[in-house]
Amino acid sequence: MTLQDVDDEDAYSRTTAGTTDLHTAEASTPGPLHGVAAARESWRPRVVHEAVPMNLLEAEKAAAQLLMALGQPVHSPHMAETPRRMAQAYAELLTVGAFDFTTFPNTEEYDELVLVHGIPLRSLCEHHMLPFVGVAHVGYLPGSRILGLSKFARVVDFFSHRAQTQERLTKQIAEHLRQQLEPRGVGVVVEAEHSCMSVRGVRAVGARTVTSTLFGALRDNPASRAEFLSLTRRGPVA
Ligand code: ZN
Repeated sequence: MTLQDVDDEDAYSRTTAGTTDLHTAEASTPGPLHGVAAARESWRPRVVHEAVPMNLLEAEKAAAQLLMALGQPVHSPHMAETPRRMAQAYAELLTVGAFDFTTFPNTEEYDELVLVHGIPLRSLCEHHMLPFVGVAHVGYLPGSRILGLSKFARVVDFFSHRAQTQERLTKQIAEHLRQQLEPRGVGVVVEAEHSCMSVRGVRAVGARTVTSTLFGALRDNPASRAEFLSLTRRGPVA
């Protein structure tokens, strides 16, 4: 992943030629806010995933071979288009969209928990290449910057659209927010049902796996931690 600022004139604007999924300290730090800089509306580094290019034709051929090897009638009229659809379906699930990580100065000095509850997510288990589907609850205690609310869903989406484990996905979302937003605390809870577990193997339909990563005050302060975890369990509306 690289961070590329879109506004060249922004005081915080820097372009960083990073490698995949690496942040640099320089690009990742909004920096202390004071004077004119503090009044600036937004800082929006572009978050981009540097993926290896896809070859859909090769994927389609390989899908046909896989199906044939599994004894499926790939050449029947009903399945003639299946290899192409398979390749496209996987390509869609593995394509990461870029987005602007838009933050604003915390001019109101809001210091309570911000929680976005129940962000839908779908990803691919890297062990079986079967989907896992669920929700993420993402919260933070703001520092000097606050994050545009829609960006929580963007961050979840960004790290979901790749071959993943739920544990790594949870950690990447939290780590990204910790590095890019420099909040006083970050908490991420992911609940998901894995089709590799529900439709095959033990066939534990309905079993949900819950993972969490907490940083800063949401991990270390018992009251903040308890508030965050109870809200993620019950939802924000009592
Ligand atoms: Zn799996």
